[in-house]
Order: sequence, then C-alpha cells, then structure tokens
Amino acid sequence: MERKQAYINQRDKAKSTTKGKQLANAHMAHYNHTTRDPQANAFYHSAQWKHMRDYVYAKAMGICQVCGNAVTDRKIVDHIHPLKVAPSEKLDKDNLWTLCYRCHNIKTQLEESIKEQPNGDNKLKHASRDWWKKVIGERIK
Ligand SMILES: [Zn+2]
Repeated sequence: MERKQAYINQRDKAKSTTKGKQLANAHMAHYNHTTRDPQANAFYHSAQWKHMRDYVYAKAMGICQVCGNAVTDRKIVDHIHPLKVAPSEKLDKDNLWTLCYRCHNIKTQLEESIKEQPNGDNKLKHASRDWWKKVIGERIK
C-alpha cells in the first residue's frame, strides 16, 4: 500500500472513534485559527485592531466582563459576534469586550459547538453580550 493511502486509512480509522473525532475537531479548530486564515491573522496584526483592542481593554480596566477577574496574562479582547460570522462588526466597540483566559476559552469552545448546529453561524451572529454572560457564567460557577 502506498504511504499516502496508509495515512488516509489510519486517519479515517482514528476519526471513527469519539476520541479520534474530538482530536480531529480540536486540530481543525487550531488550524483554522492559525494556518488557514491569513486574512484573520492580518487583521489581528493591524494598527486599527491594536488601537481598538487597547481602547476596549483600558475602558474595562483590565477586568473580565464575565467573571470580574483581572486579566493579567495578556490583553484578551474578544469579538462577541465572532469575526468570521460578523466581519462588519470587527472594529465595532459595541461588539468587543475584555475576557480572562478562562472565560475566553469557554466562549471559544461554545462557539465551536454552536457552529456545528443547524443555523449555527446565524445564532453566533445574534447572540448578545447578556446571553454570553449567562452561559459562560453558568460554566464557571
Ligand atoms: Zn473571566
């Protein structure tokens, strides 16, 4: 068997298990965030974004808008309606908030699973700040 075919077979076999599927999804999510999206990467390096990020972070005084913890490790300013589904709101301060590492992680995971649902992108496009506060808050109790 050719090496490529052997690789594909092994990959498909791995994907047939729940654990394998989770690993594949986690890998895809990471890949989407880094390698596959040069446009998003360019945005996050733009002066416009850095300016807006610093403004939102300063206004929140470095406090997580969900749990109230200080955001000390790095400036996490999150798009409430994700960049991918609401690109027109990417520099809208009403669509941005400061989150701590933990709350941001929870939100990102929830976004990944909502995306899989029917009409998922549309749900993400309209989920409000208060809704996110509630669902993230329920998970950090
Ligand atoms: Zn938090």
